[in-house]
Amino acid sequence: MKRKLRNRLSRRSFLASSLRAALFGTYALNSRAETIQTPWRNWSGGLSCSPKGRYDITDENQLIDLLKKTSGPIRPVGSGHSFSPLVPTDGHLVIIDQLSGVLEHDNETMQATVGAGSRLGDLGAPLFEIGQGMLNLPDIDRQTVAGATATGTHGTGVDFKSLSGYVTGLRLITARGEVKELDADQKDLFDAARVNLGALGIVTQIRMQNRKAFKLKKREWTAPTEELLRDFDTLASKHRQFEIFPLVYSDYSLALAIDETEQPIGQTIVPAQEVELADLRPLGIDALPAEKLTMNNALAENAQISEVVDLSYKILSNVRSNPFNEMEYSVPANNSAECVREILKTIYDEAIDVAFPLEYRYVSPEDPWLSMAYGEEPHATISIHRSAFEDYHPYFNRIEPIFRKYGGRPHWGKVHSLGHNELNELYPRFRDFKEIREALDPHGRLLNNHLRKLFEA
Ligand SMILES: Cc1cc2nc3c(=O)[nH]c(=O)nc-3n(C[C@H](O)[C@H](O)[C@H](O)COP(=O)(O)OP(=O)(O)OC[C@H]3O[C@@H](n4cnc5c(N)ncnc54)[C@H](O)[C@@H]3O)c2cc1C
Repeated sequence: MKRKLRNRLSRRSFLASSLRAALFGTYALNSRAETIQTPWRNWSGGLSCSPKGRYDITDENQLIDLLKKTSGPIRPVGSGHSFSPLVPTDGHLVIIDQLSGVLEHDNETMQATVGAGSRLGDLGAPLFEIGQGMLNLPDIDRQTVAGATATGTHGTGVDFKSLSGYVTGLRLITARGEVKELDADQKDLFDAARVNLGALGIVTQIRMQNRKAFKLKKREWTAPTEELLRDFDTLASKHRQFEIFPLVYSDYSLALAIDETEQPIGQTIVPAQEVELADLRPLGIDALPAEKLTMNNALAENAQISEVVDLSYKILSNVRSNPFNEMEYSVPANNSAECVREILKTIYDEAIDVAFPLEYRYVSPEDPWLSMAYGEEPHATISIHRSAFEDYHPYFNRIEPIFRKYGGRPHWGKVHSLGHNELNELYPRFRDFKEIREALDPHGRLLNNHLRKLFEA
């Protein structure tokens, strides 16, 4: 990886940073980023803070200088798409949006080095132009590469790791301003840093393992949940990617299968009525569970198949514009179907007032220490959601013990209530991660209240 990031501002990025300064009160002056106080809010609006200021970094040397010459709490932020309070601080926020784009690539190894502040969705087209495509993507692509990998963000697929599992190198600037260029040669530090919660330092560049650019076909249909759970392993191995959205107050799920294809781009099966998650929400908010079940089953039975072909990066991620909060746990795949059944039954039996479906998918085992899929065993991830305009606490508090009963590990970027002792039991290398964190940031400059709860016994 090159030591220096490209730091020449194009006319376009200059205009973008001027606009950002006008909107957010953050501006770059000489080589130092000077800041004024501005509030921060996450995507769902549930988390906010009033940092002392924001450092809007335009190159790596500026970041090193800043870390060496300032003191006090500091937190890196990506695109604010986490639901857990990893970011909020009353110190300074470090924004690395401008460390973006494809910096280097190698089409023999099919790897590319990108600025850590790149949004996943902004990398699809430039990677395609150089003949590469990312192996997998999460449900949406608005996250930054640094933010997504910091929390172990993953997509779907029994044979696919999280994004962190495809990181082959990264540059980490520690709280003291030291540069660590990491890859598999420094296995321990590397595996700690690939899912780092923004607690080991600030990542400026990431090298990803990609593959030859490709096209995908996505097929969506509804089917009885029991049938899909029974056949899940077969469907998951038959398709490149397979996942289901079990509908609450319904015997049905929306199923989604993705496969590589050479077919021309376009809609290959156009349903008379599109299968949209929003359309499949339970009707009759005030209805009894049995009444909702009848209505939702009728709706789901009539939903039609849809099929579309496009470039990989356009198929793998979606647009989610209705803000929500989310809790997600990974559980060992072998009893994960039982966990889904218990959650659906609890919602029905206790008439929990929720409309969003669950999401159920597999992730391949992998090495980053704090990955939800760390270890040898395949894991399934199960998510529950609640509209951002409603209080998620009663629902999430009721379901979280079910995840725990099945040996669940929480997603770092999503709502959970676990603290140091529970996490220490769930993640075999948790203690080692803590030791590395303490060595890299002995004064805890990168810690906020949430991280203290995670890392301090
Ligand atoms: C609509 C929606 C859909 C989602 N879908 C999925 C999904 O399919 N799969 C999944 O696994 N997750 C999913 N998530 C969760 C999301 O991917 C993670 O929470 C991710 O971390 C958000 O990335 P971000 O860029 O917004 O980072 P932020 O939320 O801003 O920050 C996340 C963490 O990264 C750290 N960080 C940011 N930049 C740096 C840096 N340069 N160096 C070091 N640390 C840094 C922060 O300090 C923080 O700890 C979804 C979230 C939303 C809102």
